[in-house]
Amino acid sequence: MTHRETLRLSVPEQIEGRPVTVPIFQTAIFSFDEPAAMAAAMSSPDGAHFYSGYTNPTSRALEDAVSALEGGTVALATASGMGAMNASLFGVLRHGDHVIAQKAVYGGTSGLLKDLEEQWGIEVTWIAGHDLAEFGAALQPNSRVLLLETIANPTGYVPDLPNLLGAAHSAGLTTIVDNTFATPLLCRPIEYGADIVVHSATKYLGGHHDLVAGVAVFAEREPYEKAWAQAIKFGAVIDPFTAWLTLRGLKTLPLRVQRQANTASDIAHRLAVHPAVTAVHHPGLPTHPSHTRASRLLSGYGGTLSFEVNGDAERFMSGLDLIFRAGSLGGTETVAMHPASTTHRHLQGEELRATGVTPQLVRLAFGLEHPDDLWSDIEQALKRLPR
Ligand code: PLP
Repeated sequence: MTHRETLRLSVPEQIEGRPVTVPIFQTAIFSFDEPAAMAAAMSSPDGAHFYSGYTNPTSRALEDAVSALEGGTVALATASGMGAMNASLFGVLRHGDHVIAQKAVYGGTSGLLKDLEEQWGIEVTWIAGHDLAEFGAALQPNSRVLLLETIANPTGYVPDLPNLLGAAHSAGLTTIVDNTFATPLLCRPIEYGADIVVHSATKYLGGHHDLVAGVAVFAEREPYEKAWAQAIKFGAVIDPFTAWLTLRGLKTLPLRVQRQANTASDIAHRLAVHPAVTAVHHPGLPTHPSHTRASRLLSGYGGTLSFEVNGDAERFMSGLDLIFRAGSLGGTETVAMHPASTTHRHLQGEELRATGVTPQLVRLAFGLEHPDDLWSDIEQALKRLPR
């Protein structure tokens, strides 16, 4: 170095003592001794890291962790749950293909499928998700993908994963399951035959309402490589700092999921006998239409519920003091939202009814607060509703 402007910082290559936590590799690019090694790194997700818009060691640590939790072969971490869903779908689908999808899926996913139908030459048939005959009737020669959601948002509907995934495989379809609400603690869809498991890591995996991320886990390599190539083109690859935050969240996932599920069950039982509440939707309640299936397929019922008030749902929400009126879910704070005017606002009439959303429905996603404090808040807000 002849000039101080030319200072090159030295990057520690070998250190004595291994770090206990995964370091943040906050670098956009990686350097090589030979140009040929650089070219090789660019063309595969498995070789050396080339560019953090392709792969990164911190992101790889997250991918390996979620893949292990889900019992997959390999995973792709993305900038959001929708990034994981888009990369997975675009990796598999070709113009003229047909998708069979569960009616009660997240509004962003149903919106994406509608776009694919209207603008990209993909056909979509919507099914309830528990009837093999209905799936058989939906099958077409060009059927390519079956898309399900383990615990559907916001009604808690649980589809018949093993039977539908089995039937879809026999028909040669690729199966995608959104496992955001269940997390790999409550369900591992690959064990029931899923090819691709998608997560909005924004929710329980990250777990603190402080990041937006996604992960897709693959049972086999082939769809992974296609989704990876697609994620690069979309610019949907996760950044290292967000990957690190998600890894940090993962360490407490079992503790959080257990606590949130216990609170959801406790509040569901209290709401079920409240005079101002007309219905409670939580798969843990014996009255829920999916209860028997959920008990067989899941090892817990999740940390969310929805319920219908006898009166104005938005007025109930305005009366909440402790619980945040906010979207998303799965973090440490309890949040309430009104799906009819937010996540499901693009649906009307029969389409809205098919998702189970009514104007009186409120979704609660539980955090880590004491259940008695949450119940006091809910109870006082219900009391404010006019009789
Ligand atoms: N899947 C489910 C079940 C969701 O609830 C959401 C977001 O609410 C998504 C996917 C999309 O995730 P993201 O907001 O991280 O893109």
